[in-house]
Amino acid sequence: LEVPDRPIIPFIEGDGIGVDVTPAMRRVVDAAVAKAYGGARAIVWRELLAGQKAVAELGADQILPEATLAAIREHHVAIKGPLETPVGTGMRSLNVALRQELDLYVCQRPVRYFRGTPSPLREPEKVDMVIFRENSEDIYAGIEWPAESPEARRLIAFLREEMGVRKIRFPESSAIGIKPVSREGSERLIRRAIAYALAQGKPSVTLVHKGNIMKFTEGGFRDWGYALAEREFGEQVFTWRQKTALAKSEGKAAAEAAEKAAVAAGKLIVKDVIADNFLQQILLRPELYSVVATLNLNGDYLSDALAAEVGGIGMAPGANLSDSHAIFEATHGTAPDIAGLGRANPSSLILSAVMLLEHIGWPEAAERILAAMEATIGAGEVTADLAALRGDVPALSTAEFTAALCRRVEA
Ligand code: NAD
Repeated sequence: LEVPDRPIIPFIEGDGIGVDVTPAMRRVVDAAVAKAYGGARAIVWRELLAGQKAVAELGADQILPEATLAAIREHHVAIKGPLETPVGTGMRSLNVALRQELDLYVCQRPVRYFRGTPSPLREPEKVDMVIFRENSEDIYAGIEWPAESPEARRLIAFLREEMGVRKIRFPESSAIGIKPVSREGSERLIRRAIAYALAQGKPSVTLVHKGNIMKFTEGGFRDWGYALAEREFGEQVFTWRQKTALAKSEGKAAAEAAEKAAVAAGKLIVKDVIADNFLQQILLRPELYSVVATLNLNGDYLSDALAAEVGGIGMAPGANLSDSHAIFEATHGTAPDIAGLGRANPSSLILSAVMLLEHIGWPEAAERILAAMEATIGAGEVTADLAALRGDVPALSTAEFTAALCRRVEA
């Protein structure tokens, strides 16, 4: 990525707490960039309209203006606050529409623990994961029909009569959903996860799936993933599929020894785990996992569960990526219950901006923000969400927390 010293970065303010967290994010990023590069570099922010702000300024049919999409296409990166999808727009979700429009097939979510953050774990500092969630397929794609609709009835008749499905009774009230999972879709996601793990020197990539039950969709994801790892990354990886084959041919001890040797040789271990067991293991032994690749719906559940281990969705950043474009965004929504009250935690969006800075090759500014975040939260200076969980420190407003961060970024 060729980045000038004054790149234009488009941003969408977002609805609800967007008005609280987006200005906070810009303030912290500007301070970090100015300090890290002594004024030689600066971001030129360009506001793009979407959501309620676009409706208010441009009209009811302009919730996702073509000009906004065109600007993101042109600049390749953008950062956005949360967007509300009002009922009756004919859109299931504005955010999903944006992802589909730009084919942002990866949702990347780092899960990092900052000392001082309340956590249900005894040793939360052992949590250090990056989730790669497939963003375009799966039951999450929304191919479903309501109970008693003619479409559902027709599909059920087809399944019964043409496909020989007998195990399920399909009462009259059955709604039907479809779960598409393709080899191409799984491969491109898993390829990104493995390439990332190798580039970052991570120890493992874990494929999280329910292939024991959904053998062709979730099981396909696992099998295609292993095949891709061995075919495209060869000597750089050692897979549990290879380990299982070795155990069969040469015994369990030989297989264990081969994995140990692979680790010692610095190879990336590609393994898999069933999703329900994974949810148990991240509470009991989170240190077993590093980079995680998973399907869309699993990824949705896992990211919130993992976010809860490191302070909740106020602390959970994310990026939606294609091969050429990246939109950085907080994991949380518009938080209508606290919107405009100045109580929101801006960390999720600020940490998303950290990902953006790393993406454009400005790691010095990113590091500065991470260090300031660590020091501020470590000093017990936190917003209401974390203060309530801790119970031993007063809550700072969004503005006070942002000022505390900026002070440390500039120190
Ligand atoms: P939400 O994430 O907005 O809120 C869930 C809970 O978490 C609320 O109690 C909220 O106060 C709290 N919370 C969220 N972010 C916080 C922060 N930064 N600091 C402190 N507390 C925070 O989820 P929801 O209520 O289910 O959804 C509300 C709206 O957001 C819906 O319209 C939904 O469509 C939209 N949404 C948008 C996105 C997105 O833009 N990517 C994602 C999820 C939901």
